[in-house]
Amino acid sequence: MDVEQFRKAGYQAIDRICDYYYSLQNRPVTSNVEPGYLRQHIPSTPPEKGEDFQVIADDYQKFIVPGLTHWQHPSFFAYYPTACTFEGMIADLYASSTCNPGFNWTSSPACTELEAITMDWACQLLGLSPDFMNSSGVGGGAIQNTASDSALIAVVAARALYQRDHPGVKMEDLVIYTTTQTHSLGLKAGLVLGLTVRALDVKAEDRFALRGETLRLAWQEDEERGKKPFILIATVGTTSSGAIDNLPEIQQIVRNHPSLWIHVDAAWAGSALSCPEYRERCHLSTINELAHSFCTNFHKWGLVNFDLSTLWVRDRKHLTEALDVTPPFLRTTHGDAGTVIDYRNWHLALGRRFRSLKLWFVLRSFGAEGFRRYIRKTISLNQQFADFIAESDLLSLVTPPSLALSVFRLEPKPKSPDKPLLSLESLNNLNKLFYGRISARNDILLTQTVLNGVHCIRFAVGAARTEASHIKQACELLHKEAELTLEAWEHTTLEDAK
Ligand SMILES: *Cc1c(COP(=O)(O)O)cnc(C)c1O
Repeated sequence: MDVEQFRKAGYQAIDRICDYYYSLQNRPVTSNVEPGYLRQHIPSTPPEKGEDFQVIADDYQKFIVPGLTHWQHPSFFAYYPTACTFEGMIADLYASSTCNPGFNWTSSPACTELEAITMDWACQLLGLSPDFMNSSGVGGGAIQNTASDSALIAVVAARALYQRDHPGVKMEDLVIYTTTQTHSLGLKAGLVLGLTVRALDVKAEDRFALRGETLRLAWQEDEERGKKPFILIATVGTTSSGAIDNLPEIQQIVRNHPSLWIHVDAAWAGSALSCPEYRERCHLSTINELAHSFCTNFHKWGLVNFDLSTLWVRDRKHLTEALDVTPPFLRTTHGDAGTVIDYRNWHLALGRRFRSLKLWFVLRSFGAEGFRRYIRKTISLNQQFADFIAESDLLSLVTPPSLALSVFRLEPKPKSPDKPLLSLESLNNLNKLFYGRISARNDILLTQTVLNGVHCIRFAVGAARTEASHIKQACELLHKEAELTLEAWEHTTLEDAK
């Protein structure tokens, strides 16, 4: 493909992307393909002779689009939002056009400098302490692939620091603290690093948040057994239910244990910190006093196209001391003089994509005001959904709604007071049926979860095109499915009774 062919193919690609967005509403959310569908359409060997690009571009429409789950669909309420924007897409296009691995300052100065500046912008947008800013010269932030990478890096840094401060400590005694609601990133970090992970219990009556007393008791127990907890991965906005660990209580406990690194994983919920009214609920002031590292994914609820996970640390040298390997060919005058950031020492790989362009384009185009407007809109849409559930005689909230996430289940109110309530087991079975019905539909997508033994369904708002009408449609559809589930259920329990 030469430049002029690229121009033509590029215009066509943009046109087709626009058509895709115009038609998104009318498409099913999920795909109906069967596993292995693509092998029927695509040869198992690469072509020997180059093909005409128009054929290739057409095959994307023909074979790939039908196998997509449309995360940007307004009726996508599953997992978490990936609210991407056209600004982000254009930034990705520019970034791939220069193909810069940007691993150190010299390898492409703009890549490092824009990342340092936009990470400081994002830090201020979220109200994080200036201690975390790159301009502080002590702390700083770097873009990572994912929250899982960010947590792994935090654990690596925390372990190196702990080992330096406690020479001779045995690897097998080190413990990572998480909770039973922590994302799988905690277990993954333990697997990768060969470290023990202890998941602390959380309770429904605490809305699945870690309490200080639980941490204190675990600590006491581990101390008696000679174990060395060195990091706590706390969560602001858990994946299952949006729980926010009780950081003020945790702060009271760790006063006596200053060697415990606190990593705050706010992968999904972090974007809410842009709005001052949610900062207290998310314990921002405690984060600012307590956290050694903080992560949020702008590629979830933050309007930036995947991937863009932001990781800030209070002291950058904990990262670089743990991750710096400098062979002679990577030595540079500026790096040696310490006058520039070499981001290769702030993450796992050497090369890194030029992702700060996305953050730059999005934050400039939306402005902090536009960003907050979007966050507030999605939270209020979720509130509409939660209000509907609260008023329903068939459905009920399992925990109070958290920001833009609601967790609910089918739980019919008894028709008369003398009728027995369903047991937990029956309710769980009922909800498995209910979710089975919902997931068989292709016009809406939700995910299920289990909270301390309770089967429930998550409703996560955040696709940029979701409007009140889609929430209303979802409510009606869920109500209808709830009725049908109950009908089928009553029928089978009657049959069983015969
Ligand atoms: C989505 C999510 C993650 C995982 O994110 P990745 O960036 O895909 O690793 C981690 N923690 C929480 C709380 C999440 O919501």
